[in-house]
Amino acid sequence: MKPCTSAAASAITVLAVALTATACSGEPEKTEDRPTRSSNYGYRPPLPVYKVAQDVTFDSPTLRKAQKAGKLVIGVKNDQPFLGFQDADGKRSGFDIEIAKMIAADLGFPTGMIEFKTIDTSGREASIAAGDVDLYVGTYTINDERKKKVGFAGPYFMAGVDLLVRKDDRTIGGPYSLEGKTVCSVKGSTALGEIKKADYNTTTVEALKYSECVRQLLGGGVDAVTTDDAILMGYAAQSPDKLKVVGNPFTEEPYGVGMNKDDEALRDAVSDAIEAHDENGDHEKAYNATLGLSGSKFDGTPLVQRY
Ligand code: GLU
Repeated sequence: MKPCTSAAASAITVLAVALTATACSGEPEKTEDRPTRSSNYGYRPPLPVYKVAQDVTFDSPTLRKAQKAGKLVIGVKNDQPFLGFQDADGKRSGFDIEIAKMIAADLGFPTGMIEFKTIDTSGREASIAAGDVDLYVGTYTINDERKKKVGFAGPYFMAGVDLLVRKDDRTIGGPYSLEGKTVCSVKGSTALGEIKKADYNTTTVEALKYSECVRQLLGGGVDAVTTDDAILMGYAAQSPDKLKVVGNPFTEEPYGVGMNKDDEALRDAVSDAIEAHDENGDHEKAYNATLGLSGSKFDGTPLVQRY
């Protein structure tokens, strides 16, 4: 790989360079929200700017609580590059963070009035039920089991469970080639539930965070990490010389925004917001400026399913 010289670098190479921007030339990473172009980094699309709605009122206990508190509390991930990531300075970035910001804006909350809280996969339902977060935006698959405890707006994105392996692995091509292998996933995830099925005949390691699984994969402690392709592509893009995504998704994971199960007015308002930002182009623009940098192509927004 020649990350600093080739103008015809692949999307993943461009991304890897963007992610570790200072490694090539010592030039500081650009942080402003406008398009940037440099011979070393390639094109970096701008993030959208979301118009904040004024005087929002509808019959939602969650909205009333947030308005009284002067902040909207949103649960997110912090270790998923290009989706929900927090850097060493505390700055959050990624597609889910943008989805959270665009919805908050439609509810009348500018970014400065959002309190982001890191909640990992296994803590989501409990933190929503306890009211610790008003909304949750973090690679959260909508399914019937979870709908018993959580209200979902969306979907706003469609992922699929896939496998992350070491770059030199030639033995794993999909879930049915995992017999005798050790696979890491995260407690409470749909991916862990899937890979534990007897069909696959594999040994599982359960972690609290995907970044912990990736550390084990890099260190040789496990043979694969399984979760959504969108998440895995972010990790692969961070270590393109060491890791690769198999690219053979074996489930469907529609991502929704989680909230209190009984707050139907909020659910409707968030679904409205998802549709509005799809129609005005913010969704695609946000995607291209975040998840798109990990090499995944924008494939349209799934139809919102109201219930
Ligand atoms: N989308 C899957 C889930 O909601 C896996 C990703 C995650 O753990 O957030 O379980």
